[in-house]
Amino acid sequence: MYFSSWLSQLYRGLSRPIRRTTQPIWGSLSRSLMLSSQRRNPEYSSFVVRTNTCGELRSSHLGQEVTLCGWIQYRRQNTFLVLRDFHGLVQVIIPQDESAASVRKILCEAPMESVVQVSGTVISRPAGQENPKMPTGEIEIKVKTAELLNACKKLPFEIKDFMKKTEALRLQYRYLDLRSFQMQYNLRLRSQMVMKMREYLCNLHGFVDIETPTLFKRTPGGAKEFLVPSREPGKFYSLPQSPQQFKQLLMVGGLDRYFQVARCYRDEGSRPDRQPEFTQIDIEMSFVDQTGIQNLIEGLLQYSWPNDKAPVVVPFPSMTFAEALATYGTDKPDTRFGMKIIDISDMFRNTEIGFLQDALSKPHGTVKAICIPEGAKYLKRKDIESIRKFSADHFDQEILPVFLNTNRNWNSPVANFIMESKRPELIRLMETQEEDVVLLTAGEHNKACSLLGKLRLECADLLETRGVVLRDPTLFSFLWIVDFPLFLPKEENPRELESAHHPFTAPHPSDIHLLYTEPKKVRSQHYDLVLNGNEIGGGSIRIHNAELQRYILATLLKEDVKLLSHMLQALDYGAPPHGGIALGLDRLICLVTGSPSIRDVIAFPKSFRGHDLMSNTPDSIPPEELKPYHIQVSWPTDSRAAKTH
Ligand code: ASP
Repeated sequence: MYFSSWLSQLYRGLSRPIRRTTQPIWGSLSRSLMLSSQRRNPEYSSFVVRTNTCGELRSSHLGQEVTLCGWIQYRRQNTFLVLRDFHGLVQVIIPQDESAASVRKILCEAPMESVVQVSGTVISRPAGQENPKMPTGEIEIKVKTAELLNACKKLPFEIKDFMKKTEALRLQYRYLDLRSFQMQYNLRLRSQMVMKMREYLCNLHGFVDIETPTLFKRTPGGAKEFLVPSREPGKFYSLPQSPQQFKQLLMVGGLDRYFQVARCYRDEGSRPDRQPEFTQIDIEMSFVDQTGIQNLIEGLLQYSWPNDKAPVVVPFPSMTFAEALATYGTDKPDTRFGMKIIDISDMFRNTEIGFLQDALSKPHGTVKAICIPEGAKYLKRKDIESIRKFSADHFDQEILPVFLNTNRNWNSPVANFIMESKRPELIRLMETQEEDVVLLTAGEHNKACSLLGKLRLECADLLETRGVVLRDPTLFSFLWIVDFPLFLPKEENPRELESAHHPFTAPHPSDIHLLYTEPKKVRSQHYDLVLNGNEIGGGSIRIHNAELQRYILATLLKEDVKLLSHMLQALDYGAPPHGGIALGLDRLICLVTGSPSIRDVIAFPKSFRGHDLMSNTPDSIPPEELKPYHIQVSWPTDSRAAKTH
């Protein structure tokens, strides 16, 4: 795709009235939108020295005198030069006649990626020399004057999308990486979607965009927070993990429908889909229930969705947390393909096989399995070995691969023995076929499901690397997960409870009585939004009763309520019933653009380890500059560790 086509597509596509159509072909799409839409493309050349962008010129501009500014992308035989700006590429003819010697010198000598300004006439290319692959391919620029605005030194990498470069190099020279088509596309698409979201929320539904502080107080529970020292001895701010408390306080303040494109901070190690600072579309409403929030989000996504992507189909399906775990082994299931977890415990109720008997006799003991379609054909012996090793190392669980085709029983004599008599029943229950492989495990329900959920995804990836198409990469499959438990056992100490979402989440109305007797059984009014197996949003209806909030914080979660006394007090002063949600913008855009990492949709992301490789951040501060904050660094004794700090 060339610059100018994608850019007009982007702007026109997003300024359409909301409707659901399949994607028409390129030309007719632009035409129909040009005719039907009152809106027009943005004015790209207002207030600046150029008259046009490089990417916009067509035969309709023939004869026009234009001034263009851009970067030198190619030069061919000192005759042609291709100039690039954010909008696209255009061919410039370097004048050969003596009278234009100075223009020729500038254009022939300027190194690649230098910035130049040229003025000249739009002329048509000689017959047969048009380039149909280039949107500006029918025309070229006959230059009259040229100015070198800034020469470019030798670059650390070429600005061509097809040139492979390491991510570390891209991040170190991010400002160069941003010149690539892909980064330009991602950031502009992001900006457009956010603009449409604002339009939907503010103009169509009366939301108010309100900024909340980033210097705040420690929040009990939840993610680790970044600390910011203050000049008062021993006192610190925290960077908020989300504007949660503020948005609830805004409801108490009568601001009724709030949203913010909010920067959030969590001091957790980076992962492909995490960043220490990230952006949420943060929303809160008064007098709303779960369905109200879900309808709002479905409408918001449909309204802001780019036109050149597969459409968003509403309403989104919904699944309970318990069902998601039992069927997909995770609370963010990828429902684009099958391979569901099947409970086959009943087949083995009277088994004599020791370890199955043993598993089934324990509380919540089960036998479960997934079926890998054509696994016998596509999985290799070493894949099965690494699946078994992974299960043993990470879950302390045994996995038995069962091959239905008895000629292919390698590496699974035990399974073969077990299955001898059970084969027909297994085939019926799991709907398996000849070349399929069944992966079977026995153990506690949640653990067995989580393991099979991981293996399901692993195997899907493996099959796909071997050419099987399981998931259509162009489809968007949204799913609500509802009825979460209010509490989960704490990872470090499973006898204590922690909030499954956050401590402000309201219990399910039909489970409130259980709070005082069996809190582990209480479901909540928490909902998550999942897209293609990724959590892209989460929210809840909140507790608006101070007594209930205090009981949950102090008695059940054993938190220090003093840290939240302002919240408890506010709830006592006429807090309306309210609820909200936050969408992870980076993750959403990453999925929309099909990018491999959220770093590809953030202009200046941190590295995998949380560093800014361009400016070398975090960086050390001289001891005298730390003095006003009354803090001192205690250096690790290991000098190597000290150096890397
Ligand atoms: N503050 C929550 C979060 O960041 C979202 C919400 O409950 O609205 O996950």
